[in-house]
Amino acid sequence: MANRPMLEIVSLEKRFGTNTILKKIDLKVAEGELVFVIGPSGSGKSTMLRCCNRLEEPTSGDIIVDGRNIMAGTRRDLDRMRLQIGMVFQGFHLYPHMTVLKNVTLAQRKALKRSKAEADARAIDMLEQVGMAHKAEAYPGELSGGQQQRVAIARSLALDPKVMLFDEPTSALDPELVGSVLKVMKDLKSKGMTMVVVSHEMGFARETADRVVFMDGGVVVEQGTPDEIFGAPKAERTRAFLSRVS
Ligand code: ADP
Ligand code: MG
Repeated sequence: MANRPMLEIVSLEKRFGTNTILKKIDLKVAEGELVFVIGPSGSGKSTMLRCCNRLEEPTSGDIIVDGRNIMAGTRRDLDRMRLQIGMVFQGFHLYPHMTVLKNVTLAQRKALKRSKAEADARAIDMLEQVGMAHKAEAYPGELSGGQQQRVAIARSLALDPKVMLFDEPTSALDPELVGSVLKVMKDLKSKGMTMVVVSHEMGFARETADRVVFMDGGVVVEQGTPDEIFGAPKAERTRAFLSRVS
């Protein structure tokens, strides 16, 4: 089953009023693949990710996760399928009054109805994976931004997602904290997680991405391997963007 598609975005369109933000986007992400998305501010990157779990409601098109269309089915199907799509944002949104462990077990208990013992065990495993198990009893306010983001990643992973979407996960971090979060993402990739990453960390993309997608004005302008996109971009818009950011 190598290369089976884990996430398929099919003819995705999103309008806000008369403004068309996503213009029939098609993007297929294979199992275990890391797709890195770049593009100018306002090009629709966040909207595309948010449409993937219907945090933003697509105007038309389909989102297919591991062969199942999240645009079809009942509200309950949607709730269940949402759990399979992990999402990590720029801000970490941890509950400040709960310990790290509680933050990572809460959704497992509520949404997956896991027992406390099962949720705790899964949480500790995932916290170990992101190098944060030693802070299980700490509160978010006692952690650095990089540590909080790693806890947020563990919280997503604890729900056993089929795909992980990252929207500028290191943009809010002090530069010296960025590396620890990128390392966690790299480890995840090496374990076979399917990932879509919106980020400005071009070095990470060169090292880790299977494919780089350049978006502008709500369309995918160009895509290819990191070498192709960074080394020999074909479209003028891609060249102009890359010369501005690097
Ligand atoms: P990016 O993440 O690439 O910077 P976004 O997806 O955040 O781009 O935004 C794409 C465009 O959609 C922007 O022009 C933005 O103003 C617009 N947009 C995003 N969310 C909304 C919304 N809820 N209502 C209206 N316009 C929006
Ligand atoms: Mg964005």
